[in-house]
Amino acid sequence: MTDPLIPSVNDAYRATLQVVESVEPRIAGAIRSELHDQRASLKLIASENYASPAVLLTMGNWLSDKYAEGTIGHRFYAGCQNVDTVESIAAEHARELFGAEYAYVQPHSGIDANLVAFWSILAHRVEQPELAEAGVRQVNELSEDAWEVLRKKFGEQRMLGMSLDAGGHLTHGFRPNISGKMFQQRSYGTNPETGLVDYDQVAAAAREFRPLILIAGYSAYPRRIDFARMREIADEVGATFMVDMAHFAGLVAGKVFTGDEDPVPFADVVTTTTHKSLRGPRGGLVLATGEYAPSVDRGCPMVLGGPLSHVMAAKAVALAEARQPSFQTYAQQVADNAKTLADGLMRRGAKLVTDGTDNHLVLIDVSGYGLTGRQAESALLEAGVVTNRNAVPSDPNGAWYTSGVRLGTPALTSRGFGGAEFEQVADLITSVLSSTTPATASNGQPGKARYVLADGVAEGTRARIAELLEANPLYPGLEL
Ligand code: PLP
Repeated sequence: MTDPLIPSVNDAYRATLQVVESVEPRIAGAIRSELHDQRASLKLIASENYASPAVLLTMGNWLSDKYAEGTIGHRFYAGCQNVDTVESIAAEHARELFGAEYAYVQPHSGIDANLVAFWSILAHRVEQPELAEAGVRQVNELSEDAWEVLRKKFGEQRMLGMSLDAGGHLTHGFRPNISGKMFQQRSYGTNPETGLVDYDQVAAAAREFRPLILIAGYSAYPRRIDFARMREIADEVGATFMVDMAHFAGLVAGKVFTGDEDPVPFADVVTTTTHKSLRGPRGGLVLATGEYAPSVDRGCPMVLGGPLSHVMAAKAVALAEARQPSFQTYAQQVADNAKTLADGLMRRGAKLVTDGTDNHLVLIDVSGYGLTGRQAESALLEAGVVTNRNAVPSDPNGAWYTSGVRLGTPALTSRGFGGAEFEQVADLITSVLSSTTPATASNGQPGKARYVLADGVAEGTRARIAELLEANPLYPGLEL
């Protein structure tokens, strides 16, 4: 990521930090430290990335001060002409980039995008027919009795999504999340032999459960999804087909996922975060067909408060970047690097869920090393490798300790890592894992958190990482 505008970027950040320092020096210090830490770590967290200076700089300005509840041209506040411009440009880039009929760029995060999607689907599929039956246009025109009936109907709706341990996300109907409280939920898993989504099993579950929403998308599934097949299943049971592409939006934007692997032509509603493989600011967005657009457009005030106009501006910049041919090269490299990493790990004896990857992430089953995910994550961190532990299908260690470690390539690919570097990353990871042993817990029982890393491994690994990072600097030329 070399930036020809680096002198201006340097000036901008120096000036910003000087101004922040004059008010609260500790915050300026934390910002400097974060740059240092990000530069010094081998970041393999699959959901993180490095946004460009243009994206980051777009967020620090007075657009932040404006209230703009409502939609483009229909705000609950006066003076929103510039927010209208920003939101229109961001939405236009999103529609063009993904080939969507409609884009809603207000959600503050992925979870908010999903909430907007869920309530839009409920509004379209449950509320609208009820209003039509009562002969009214708006929900507040319903009689008290009719409203009570509608409220109960909302609570009777069903969602079918991927199970958490197969790689699904908490927001896809699981109890700790509001989606699990809103919907009756059932999940589909993966084939125990192959670890792959079994579409016949999904179809059987859909026929039996008859969900209002069939949801596809994941946080920790290392393979592509056949969205054409999922659409057929949704159509067969009359479900709305929703895809949460938060993790792989960059691969869709970069045309790595095309045809049946591109969710946009097949889903009624698609949600995403903008900060993972898409490499934008922290935030979310919703894409929809024309049929669902009017309901999605009511996201604020239905679910969201005032939009973060400065972040919508940064989304516009990131989406403009993603429309450049260079982003396609980047996205292809992300997928190629994940494959190199997976192959390198397996060649060195690691066991991977689904025996490989064809997206941006890899899930190591560390039980083969006699470790829990927690032990493996901690040992890797001690050696300078930043990952996160993750459940594997039917995980005997549950969601806290887990038996897996999830790795992703988007961030290091943004730094310039290619196949040769990821081959070395595979070597570093397997050497740390095979040098780690579980340690007994304080009660003398076999521990799930404590571990012992053989002498010298952390130091040796850190030295090799420092060399790799130095050869591929983050924000090269940026000097504060
Ligand atoms: N959906 C999926 C598939 C995710 O992986 C995530 C985050 O990890 C989210 C939604 C939530 O995104 P956010 O953290 O921006 O709310």
